[in-house]
Amino acid sequence: MPNYHIWTIGCQMNKAESERLFSLFEESGYQFVPDVADADLIVINTCVVRQNAEDRAARKLQNFKPFKKARPDMIIAVTGCWVESNTDQLKKRFPFVDYFFKAGECPPWVDRTKWSQALPKEPQPATYVPIIQGCNNFCAYCVVPYRRGREKSRPLSEIVCEVKELARRGTREVTLLGQNVDSYGHDLPEKPELADLLTELNDIDGLYRIRFLTNHPKDMSLRLIKTVAQLEKVCKSITLPAQAGSNEILQAMRRGYSIEEYRRLVTEIRSEIPDVGLVSDIIVGFPSETEAQFQETVNLLTEVKFDTVHLAAYSPRPGTVAAREMADDVSADDKKRRLTFLERLQENIVTEINAKLTGKTIEILVEGKQKGKWYGRTGTDKLVFFNDDANCMGKLVNLRIDLTSPWSLQGTINY
Ligand code: SF4
Repeated sequence: MPNYHIWTIGCQMNKAESERLFSLFEESGYQFVPDVADADLIVINTCVVRQNAEDRAARKLQNFKPFKKARPDMIIAVTGCWVESNTDQLKKRFPFVDYFFKAGECPPWVDRTKWSQALPKEPQPATYVPIIQGCNNFCAYCVVPYRRGREKSRPLSEIVCEVKELARRGTREVTLLGQNVDSYGHDLPEKPELADLLTELNDIDGLYRIRFLTNHPKDMSLRLIKTVAQLEKVCKSITLPAQAGSNEILQAMRRGYSIEEYRRLVTEIRSEIPDVGLVSDIIVGFPSETEAQFQETVNLLTEVKFDTVHLAAYSPRPGTVAAREMADDVSADDKKRRLTFLERLQENIVTEINAKLTGKTIEILVEGKQKGKWYGRTGTDKLVFFNDDANCMGKLVNLRIDLTSPWSLQGTINY
C-alpha cells in the first residue's frame, strides 16, 4: 500500500480540507506515515495570510527536495492558499513538485466522485464542516478573495446529509466553516440563510453541539442572533472579528462598518444571549495607524472584554489593496510593542473572566486526551482539562471548575 503524509498550516478551513484528504487517502487504502522519509505521497496544505506562514511552507518544501531526488517516483503536491490560478512562479521556484491544486479542490490524480463523498470512517467527536468557500469582501489587507475566489455556498441539503452521516459515524459536534458564514446561501437558488441551516441541523439525532465561524460584523443579522439564542444545540459562542477600534483604520481596511455599529452589535448579542462567549480578531500596525488610533483598539478590548482575541501584527500581502496602495509605515518595533501590550491586556481580562467560573458546574464535550488528562470545550469555547479513569471520549460531562488560568480551566467530574 502506498504511504502518505500531509502537512498543514493555517486556519480551520485548511484543517478541514486536510481532514477530507486524510479520509480520501484512507478510503483509497493509503497508509498515513508520520515521517516524510517513508511517504510515497506528500501533500502540503499552505497558508498565505501572513508572511511567516508562507515562509514556513517554503522551508518545508525545500526540505522535501532531497527525498524526491533520492526517490523520483515519490509524489509531491501543494495545495492551499499559496496556489493561484497561475502557478508558473511556484513551478519555477519548486520544479520538483508534481502537482499544484487550488484550496478546496479535488487533487488532480483523484476521481472527483470519490472526493465529494470523502468522509472519515471514524470521525473525531468535534469535526469541521465547510459550508461556504471564498469571500466577496476584499478587505484591504486580505489575500483570501484572490486565492479562494468569490463566495460559493454548498447546498443546504448536501450539508444536512453530510452532518447526519457524520453523527451516525460518531461526530457529536460540528463547526460550520466559511470565510464569512453570515453570507451563507445568498448565491443558492432558494437563498437559505445560516439561521435556516442551524435550525435543520439542530434536529439531527446524535448531534449534541453546533458551532460556526467566522462572522462578519456587517453581515450578522438579528435573526441569526435570535436563532443562536433559541436553538439548544447551537453553542453560545460567537466569533466577531473587529480588526481595529478606530473608524479611520476600519475605513482604510475597507471593513464596511463603524466602531459604533460594531459596539451596537455586541450589545445586541449580549442582550439576546447573556452568557455568550465572544471571540475577536485584531490587527495592530495597519498602515498609518497612530498611537491615538491604537489606543481606540485598547479601549475596545478594555470595554468589551472578549473571551478570546486573536492578535496579529500587520504584514503586507502581495496583491492586496493595502500592499499596492499603502505604505507599511508603522515600524516593526512599534508593531511589536502594540502587540505585546494587547497580549498582556487580554491576558489580564481573561484571567478575570475565567476566575469567575471557579466553583461553577459547566458541561463540556470531551474531545480527547493530552498528557494523561481528558480535555474538551465549554459551549462558550473554553478549554477544560480533567482526570477520570472511565472512557469519556465523545461524551458530554458536567465538570466542577476547580482552577482557572487565562488559557484553560481544570475541573472535576460531577456524577
Ligand atoms: S471578510 Fe475580509 S478578512 Fe475575512 S476573508 Fe473576506 S476579505 Fe479576508
